[in-house]
Amino acid sequence: MKIICIGRNYAEHAKELGNPLPKKPVFFMKPDTSLQIRNRPFFYPSFSNDIHYETELVVKINKNGRHIQEKYANTYYDKIALGIDFTARDLQQQCKEKGLPWEVAKAFDFSAPISKFISLDTLPDKNHIHFQLELNGQIVQKSSSEHMIFTFDKLISYVSQFITLKMGDMIFTGTPEGVGPVKINDRLTGYLEGEKMLDFLVK
Ligand code: ZN
Repeated sequence: MKIICIGRNYAEHAKELGNPLPKKPVFFMKPDTSLQIRNRPFFYPSFSNDIHYETELVVKINKNGRHIQEKYANTYYDKIALGIDFTARDLQQQCKEKGLPWEVAKAFDFSAPISKFISLDTLPDKNHIHFQLELNGQIVQKSSSEHMIFTFDKLISYVSQFITLKMGDMIFTGTPEGVGPVKINDRLTGYLEGEKMLDFLVK
């Protein structure tokens, strides 16, 4: 199983980090060891002083495919979850300045907490999936899949031109604006269409 993460898929988030809008999807990967499930606490790693939350819609691939055409991409996923792409922003900034890969900032252990998956059939409209993140009870990120620059189908089609997608792979589809730092004892609570999906502590 692999985790593919999309960068800069919401215009307002690209702006807040001073990045240009992408013409093609930007993606990177996290290993399976980055997963954290069942709302277990996130332990603040010792190698960073600036860990940021990024809340993202996550789709799960349900069959193997490569070179998937966009018009068929919707048959490759039927479940969605809410995930956090934890990012060591200080290390990422150093990587960007030096033109180095991002793994130290993105792929570390437990950097990808994820909720349970729910069937897309249970949601009214996959092009308008509303989600939000609360930090200690205050809303810090609130958006909808309608604001994604590249749709789920476009992302699957694009990534599969380079990498075979396999059943069980997950795609973190990018974060909206409002990213920010966490500190020890913070509580993160994430909602998808009003249903509480994530609820865990930073320790
Ligand atoms: Zn992200």
